[in-house]
Amino acid sequence: MPDGLHTLTISGALARAATIAERCARNAAAIDQEGAFPVDEFAWIAEAGLLAAPLHRTLGGPGLGTEAGSTLALLLLLKQIGRGNLAVGRVYEGHINALQLIQTFGTAQQQTMYAADAHHCKLFGVWNTEAADGVKIFPVNGRYRLEGAKTFASGAGYVERPMVNGVLPDGGWQMCIVPMDRVQVEIDPSWWQVSGMRASASYRVDFSGVELEPEELIGAPGDYYRQPWLTGGVIRFAAVQLGAAEALLDAARDYLQGRGWTGDPYQRARMAEAAIAVESGNLWLRGAAPRADRLLLEGDCVDPQAYVAYANMVRTAIEKVCLDVLGLVERSVGARGLLKPHPFERIGRDLTLYLRQPAPDAALADVGRHVLERTTPVSALWSDDNF
Ligand SMILES: Cc1cc2nc3c(=O)[nH]c(=O)nc-3n(C[C@H](O)[C@H](O)[C@H](O)COP(=O)(O)OP(=O)(O)OC[C@H]3O[C@@H](n4cnc5c(N)ncnc54)[C@H](O)[C@@H]3O)c2cc1C
Repeated sequence: MPDGLHTLTISGALARAATIAERCARNAAAIDQEGAFPVDEFAWIAEAGLLAAPLHRTLGGPGLGTEAGSTLALLLLLKQIGRGNLAVGRVYEGHINALQLIQTFGTAQQQTMYAADAHHCKLFGVWNTEAADGVKIFPVNGRYRLEGAKTFASGAGYVERPMVNGVLPDGGWQMCIVPMDRVQVEIDPSWWQVSGMRASASYRVDFSGVELEPEELIGAPGDYYRQPWLTGGVIRFAAVQLGAAEALLDAARDYLQGRGWTGDPYQRARMAEAAIAVESGNLWLRGAAPRADRLLLEGDCVDPQAYVAYANMVRTAIEKVCLDVLGLVERSVGARGLLKPHPFERIGRDLTLYLRQPAPDAALADVGRHVLERTTPVSALWSDDNF
């Protein structure tokens, strides 16, 4: 167990994340290449005890995102890591997601077992995305055989406990944890030919032939897609994305200060718009957190549809914040600012790709549907009573 892990507090976790974010930012250009992975960064994260951040206190963690009252801290933690390096943020968010899912749907025995792995610095992830040859799960003699592949499997080759979801013969969608140190898979890095997020190692991984024990299946079929938990989770990636927008704004301010351009009214206007955008993103996270806390406290919510629509508003609004900040900062620093070693083009490439999350149109349509189907005044649609 890393030193001090058992005493990790929420404020301690945030302070450590801020320090790690600075170190990540300093190293980000060096690992901005295909085939790279933020190995040092995850060593720092592990050393700081942050791989245990989402573990419930009964499992030896501070319970970020798994205990009521801690969601804002989790979102701020994710934002910090995203501010340092989006590729690190992407992989770290997957680690948090997997441990949250295990603690929501896993048995007590599974929670204990995988918490011990997290304490021993094993990295988790969630690999759900797939192409036409996706993962199928076949029960065979009391075990489960996997056939098929995942795409966009972030941290492939480094994540030791990925949650790999697949379809059962009856059509049910089943969560599984694959112990990568025990099985053989085929990892295809050539699949990941990208302009941004190079160091996230989001490869194609073929699991054909892997056999799992029954205790490696998490929850019941369909649990992964259960609402409001599935869509409620989008606030995590939105927090990571917002971290990159903050990094862009900080760097743009440094750049303009360095060039002595702070008195120019156009630059002031752009920085004002970017600052307003970033702060509105922070307000969205602050709006989301107490609602997620309520779900953690009560195990359900009064109006799951309202909760889902709210989470969809958060991700849609923060996507727009990020796109606005990207455009404003690019115009402010101009072509010269977009040359290396300035960080703008790298963060811009990473953010442009990482903003592409599942089903953005459906997320927006869901908000519109919710507004149109209800007859309560709009001011009451998102009131505390709904959550
Ligand atoms: C850097 C990075 C790392 C990732 N890591 C992981 C990971 O570790 N694990 C994981 O599971 N996934 C991962 N993903 C995948 C991610 O979660 C999304 O699934 C993926 O980015 C969505 O891909 P897409 O934009 O091509 O989606 P699409 O669904 O193809 O959407 C593209 C566009 O089409 C629209 N659209 C969608 N469906 C339809 C339809 N039926 N008809 C018409 N239009 C439609 C969408 O609204 C959107 O506008 C990662 C993605 C990135 C970029």
